[in-house]
Amino acid sequence: MLRSSRIYVAGHSGLVGGAIMRRLQRKGHETLITRSHAELDLTNQDAVNQFFDEQRPEYVFLAAAKVGGILANSTYPADFIRENLQIEVNVIDAAHRSGVRKLVFLGSSCIYPKMSPQPIKEEYLLTGPLEPTNEAYAIAKIAGLTMVKAYREQYGFNGISLMPTNLYGPGDNFNLETSHVLPALIRKFDDAKRAGAPNVTVWGSGTPRREFLHVDDLADAAAFLMDKYDGEDLVNVGVGHDVSIADLAALVAQVVGYEGEIVYDTSKPDGTPQKLLDNSRLLSLGWRPKVPLKDGITKTYRWYLESGSRQR
Ligand code: GDP
Repeated sequence: MLRSSRIYVAGHSGLVGGAIMRRLQRKGHETLITRSHAELDLTNQDAVNQFFDEQRPEYVFLAAAKVGGILANSTYPADFIRENLQIEVNVIDAAHRSGVRKLVFLGSSCIYPKMSPQPIKEEYLLTGPLEPTNEAYAIAKIAGLTMVKAYREQYGFNGISLMPTNLYGPGDNFNLETSHVLPALIRKFDDAKRAGAPNVTVWGSGTPRREFLHVDDLADAAAFLMDKYDGEDLVNVGVGHDVSIADLAALVAQVVGYEGEIVYDTSKPDGTPQKLLDNSRLLSLGWRPKVPLKDGITKTYRWYLESGSRQR
């Protein structure tokens, strides 16, 4: 990408798209094209085709998706599969037809089989059954990366697919009903500190292990791979190590400054015992994560306080 290249970030106001925008702006890219949901409905094929014909982007980051936690995924599976398939079909096809030079498609680590050996290598894709609670979403994402690969094979279209691990950072969802664990813990410890509560309840046993990638690192990897990688193979994007939920809870408590007790509610589900991506393909391309977990949590906590998310 040149500084003058026309770059379209689909989903620019989301957690991932927002981080990609910051990364591109920081590096001086001058022609960033964005459309709000109200301006362009990505599930509308005619509108998407017209947008690409008029705007002629050269590079596309496809970070637009319908996303949600376990509850939303299991309540609205039809909406998750329909909207994600429509967005992928419309954007990838319009990108190819209008002569986009390169497209980066963003998947998710939940596309891998539920019982994958750890760490999860890219080749484990489609080797076993998926986690049932987000199957509709995962199948839509698998369709997207298969579409990118098929367009490469049949039309020579330059699309690549990245699979990020669990993400966190500014722009995260801090709603305790729908959020993932890291923002949930920030909210719980901050609330407890303010209320002077003697303890904080963490779900499950504390023993499951998860990997956490700051969204600024994902954005950096996505821009790096846009410039450097033209292969058809998927690329996992992760930090390469995980932490137990108990260690994560202790770290968040320390960052927030909460000194009470941490108690575990084992009536809540632990979920899968471990989720860790094998990032050796990405490392072999020369990229390294830059945000240590504690720094990332500190920045995210600051954003939580400053953005007004606490009041919502
Ligand atoms: P997962 O990676 O798909 O399992 O999604 P989550 O981020 O929601 O949960 C990860 C782990 O953190 C699970 O073992 C949860 O039980 C545990 N956990 C502990 N406290 C919380 C909490 O307050 N919210 C959430 N979402 N998870 C929690």
